Amino acid sequence: MADVCTHLDHVLVTEAPDAVEGCVDCLREGTRWVHLRMCHECGEVRCCDNSPEQHATKHFRASAHPVMRSVEPGEAWSWCFIDEVAFRIATE
Ligand SMILES: [Zn+2]
Ligand SMILES: [Zn+2]
Ligand SMILES: [Zn+2]
Repeated sequence: MADVCTHLDHVLVTEAPDAVEGCVDCLREGTRWVHLRMCHECGEVRCCDNSPEQHATKHFRASAHPVMRSVEPGEAWSWCFIDEVAFRIATE
């Protein structure tokens, strides 16, 4: 674990999508999400750890995409699952 994220080469998508339909896995499985996060590597939106299915964490484990950000209104913080550090990439 580091004080700073060392995985910025995995950050390919920084801006939140204009319209977020919901967690892609919850929409497919018919489950509910609480808060939404976007993977910085592939840009897909999944649900936070307060959600029953915790799809963002499952996506990190399955894909090894380590960095995500909040796409909740007014939130622009990012989080690295490996370094366990919060930081800001987005410019909005
Ligand atoms: Zn990192
Ligand atoms: Zn979900
Ligand atoms: Zn991803």
